[in-house]
Amino acid sequence: MNEKVLSLRGVTKKYKSRRVVNEVNLDINRGEIVGLIGKNGAGKTTILRMIAGLADSNSGEIELFGKTSKSEQVNERKRMGSLIENPAIYGNMTAKQNLEYYRIQRGITDKESVKNALKLVGLTDTGNKLAKKFSLGMKQKLGIAIAILGSPELLLLDEPINGLDPMAIVQIRELIHKLNRENNTTVLISSHILQEMSMVANKYSFIHDGKILETITAEKLEEKCQLFLKLRVKDVKQTTLILENTFNTENFKVISNEEIHIFDNDLNSDNLMKELINAEIGIISMGEEGQNLEDYFINLIGGVSNE
Ligand code: ATP
Repeated sequence: MNEKVLSLRGVTKKYKSRRVVNEVNLDINRGEIVGLIGKNGAGKTTILRMIAGLADSNSGEIELFGKTSKSEQVNERKRMGSLIENPAIYGNMTAKQNLEYYRIQRGITDKESVKNALKLVGLTDTGNKLAKKFSLGMKQKLGIAIAILGSPELLLLDEPINGLDPMAIVQIRELIHKLNRENNTTVLISSHILQEMSMVANKYSFIHDGKILETITAEKLEEKCQLFLKLRVKDVKQTTLILENTFNTENFKVISNEEIHIFDNDLNSDNLMKELINAEIGIISMGEEGQNLEDYFINLIGGVSNE
């Protein structure tokens, strides 16, 4: 059974009279990697800040590990790690010293946790190098190391790959997968880089102008975005018989009285066209269709996305 780790119900945040987060509902189950996807200014950071207790909502309810009261959540947040906006890193300290500082500050008694976090993010070999000399990618990794210090069950990452080079992006993606696979860490990660999100998340929540437009599993989205042959014909009934009897497939969907979507990848469209012509079935149009995450998002918000 799905165990709910986090739940937002009708959460609204206003700045002056403007609703930057508007009646947001979101459920996250243990073990999920949820991608919060939206353009700049959509409200992603504000949502993460409210979950982390860094900002208050104006209305609605946040349930964290089953707790809804603010006082109880203070305790529950020890089970959560977050990297929101720029990580608070001390430039005049090494990676290890930074982690040691946060370990003590958070009352984490396990001294090994520093070594483990350094190892997980691949910063073990940085030795005496001061954090101010780190590349952006290294700083980001250190920020993630700080977030995962107490082996959190839930990890919030706000645009963790922003500004990183391709190699660092791959490493951070692998790290998220590793934490999820080995520790069953639940991850909520925000980004406007859709291509990257499609390689990380197993559930997506699309946000636009402070509103969640849709939350959908990667599996369901794949189904929706799957490439298919869109066929428009004069005689749908006869065409379905040809598909079943001549091409031995039932992997299609009748959309209307002139449109069929065929999902069978093995079906040869040239042969199908020949058969339809032989049977004197009028073909209105025939072509491959499908969407990627980017197309899906653009369609959802009804406009062009920004990068
Ligand atoms: P980005 O990736 O650009 O940070 P985002 O999706 O994370 O985008 P938010 O940072 O949550 O968006 O901002 C949502 C909206 O709320 C923006 O229009 C922003 O200008 C506004 N906003 C955020 N924080 C404040 C604040 N402290 N005071 C006033 N307005 C704010």
